[in-house]
Amino acid sequence: MSKKLFLITGGAGFIGSALIRLIFDKTNHGVVNIDKLTYASNLESLDSIQSKNHNFYAFEKADICDKDTIKRILFQYKPDAIIHLAAESHVDRSIDSPDEFIHTNIFGTYNLLEQSRAYWMSLNGSKKDDFRFHHISTDEVYGDLDEGCDPFTEETPYAPSSPYSASKASSDFLVRAWQRTFNFPTIITNCSNNYGPYQFPEKLIPLIIMNALQGKELPIYGNGKQVRDWLYVEDHARALLHVVLNGKIGSTFNIGGNNEIENIKVVKKVCEILDKLSPSKHKGIKHYRELITFVDDRAGHDKRYAIDATKIAAELNWTPKETFETGIRKTVKWYLENMDWCERVQDGVYQGQRLGVITQ
Ligand code: NAD
Repeated sequence: MSKKLFLITGGAGFIGSALIRLIFDKTNHGVVNIDKLTYASNLESLDSIQSKNHNFYAFEKADICDKDTIKRILFQYKPDAIIHLAAESHVDRSIDSPDEFIHTNIFGTYNLLEQSRAYWMSLNGSKKDDFRFHHISTDEVYGDLDEGCDPFTEETPYAPSSPYSASKASSDFLVRAWQRTFNFPTIITNCSNNYGPYQFPEKLIPLIIMNALQGKELPIYGNGKQVRDWLYVEDHARALLHVVLNGKIGSTFNIGGNNEIENIKVVKKVCEILDKLSPSKHKGIKHYRELITFVDDRAGHDKRYAIDATKIAAELNWTPKETFETGIRKTVKWYLENMDWCERVQDGVYQGQRLGVITQ
């Protein structure tokens, strides 16, 4: 396959950096990484790509909402495809302060679409025909699923519950509209909960690992019975690469791990692995699960998400490689081996608290 140049937004974030590491490990494609470097970003997660000098790489610290800068970057580098991951991504923060979510996730996506469309219109021949705009979204746009109901398919109607999922749903609709109205060559993917190395420690799994090791309480929302489908981040990155290279224009794909698990079971599993790999040295705590504490539920908390990922398996031959058992073990081990990274990201900005809890 010919060498491509991908323009990746949000490449200093959790999933974006996993995608760039994969591209550098397994392909010769080049990357222009656009990231505003918000609190959630971490350029250290890209340290390993420095030694791989057969791939072109450029980093641009930029805001996707900035019209002139995005225009300049597109016309300067002339990418073959855009993979759009930049977003405000934490549900709790969207409850606490929705402003940035509306701005980045909706206006930022609109701006990126418009600038990319102008760039695409300037192209000719196969460079124009092969161009793709791949928008990365979430299964949270589908809203709540009752126990026993079939998992979300690509046809499930949107019913977002939180400011985060509503902002992502809005951005998905913009992308669809740009495809229908302007024939702009877009593809959308909606993925379930990711976990794995380099995830910012405000998300459930790294939060539990960090708090447990520090002997702090392990806060669980409500009764902990909320069900999520968990996907190892490197499996997601592989899926994204398949989709941008092989997905049909105008298509959408659900991406999931076939791992529907209650939050409380996820937390107990992490505790069990930690008990083996790094037994508690905290006074009065023999097993980490003793630190579990139930806190007021998140406002509007969805009970269940579940993904039907048969379309991407059938059309693009993608299935996850990791089971939850193997992926969670790798993840806990990675955090134990990279505690200095965790301490650095926790320094100052974020102290391991739950955000946005509304008590009435
Ligand atoms: P993340 O919060 O770890 O990273 C987001 C990145 O975007 C950060 O590096 C941040 O600096 C950058 N960014 C934020 N606002 C920006 C702006 N205005 N301009 C340029 N860059 C900006 O998020 P993530 O977990 O890696 O998620 C990436 C994408 O995948 C998001 O679109 C998210 O909605 C989607 N998604 C995430 C999950 C998950 O479980 N994490 C699941 C499904 C879909």
